[in-house]
Amino acid sequence: MDGSSYRGSSSVDIYLQNYKLGKTLGIGSFGKVKIAEHALTGHKVAIKILNRRKIKNMDMEEKVRREIKILRLFMHPHIIRLYEVIETPTDIYVVMEHVKSGELFDYIVEKGRLQEDEARNFFQQIISGVEYCHRNMVVHRDLKPENLLLDSKWNVKIADFGLSNIMRDGHFLKTSCGSPNYAAPEVISGKLYAGPEVDVWSCGVILYALLCGTLPFDDENIPNLFKKIKGGIYTLPSHLSPGARDLIPRMLVVDPMKRMTIPEIRQHQWFQARLPRYLAVPPPDTMQQAKKIDEEILQEVINMGFDRNQLIESLRNRMQNEATVAYYLLLDNRFRVSNGYLGAEFQETMVRLVSQVYFREEENVSSLYFMYRESY
Ligand code: ADP
Ligand code: MG
Repeated sequence: MDGSSYRGSSSVDIYLQNYKLGKTLGIGSFGKVKIAEHALTGHKVAIKILNRRKIKNMDMEEKVRREIKILRLFMHPHIIRLYEVIETPTDIYVVMEHVKSGELFDYIVEKGRLQEDEARNFFQQIISGVEYCHRNMVVHRDLKPENLLLDSKWNVKIADFGLSNIMRDGHFLKTSCGSPNYAAPEVISGKLYAGPEVDVWSCGVILYALLCGTLPFDDENIPNLFKKIKGGIYTLPSHLSPGARDLIPRMLVVDPMKRMTIPEIRQHQWFQARLPRYLAVPPPDTMQQAKKIDEEILQEVINMGFDRNQLIESLRNRMQNEATVAYYLLLDNRFRVSNGYLGAEFQETMVRLVSQVYFREEENVSSLYFMYRESY
């Protein structure tokens, strides 16, 4: 028997004993994504397997680890939840929320251009998720319909958050196999600083793709494609409504300083139309969310044999262990099952609670900001 492959398989058993691994869902740039079942709760999860050697070769280890640390705190209805991270000598396993309905990319390819209301619904969800990330000092930098997954109720879930931060510069885009169609002009020009504006550009391209079924910037020849993006050269089809016609060109502005901002998008009348109540209020941030502990779920986890005080302590400190992972899996699933998908009532209560806390917690918020800044 080959010793290395034997060690490989036994280490998976040791490190992933809480999960039953299933079939491969997809192949990513650093490794595979597999479906798995969490043994304690029976819930399905997706596990992204990142190869440490590949990350190390790209000198990205520390960055990946820091990104994951921040992403673990994220909790938003339109962002894939990250439940835990398991490190083995060879790989990093990122355990995430599993969604069933594939990529928004395939949805658009299959349906062609969407009706305005459906496109707007997707767009509102994407903007609210992106806004949440920016509020927590994370820029996605690789927003595209391939990274937007759909759940069983056709809600958008932003995936690949943060990991894309490490692939931000033009050098990576030029050398990777990924498509640069969604990248902002300053990104393909290799500018070192890429802030929230780059996500706004990508959202503009996504909105165009949703409403038109085609890409605003496209060319088989990459240098030509780059010319079009840098020049902001595209056409708007005549079927677009006046609102969409007004919004898209404000997002696809070549100068990042003159580009529309997320708060401005929020206020635009096209965005405001049919905005669901739970998305009408800016999202809370991670520090506020950490404050609230659900007594019922807490009890359920204690019934599994975990210590109450230890669990509360771990939840307060945002620590990762078996008990907290079980807690968050149960929490996520309960809201999905009992309230339908994020009942407006629950959302409103949460937003109210959380905004009360917010104005007393500014210090904590800024410490997260600095924690994030230091990691760069
Ligand atoms: P990459 O790093 O190449 O962008 P992805 O994160 O897109 O890798 O993962 C590859 C594929 O795995 C995706 O296209 C998607 O179909 C699937 N996938 C990724 N995350 C999940 C998830 N949380 N739930 C279900 N499928 C997923
Ligand atoms: Mg992807």
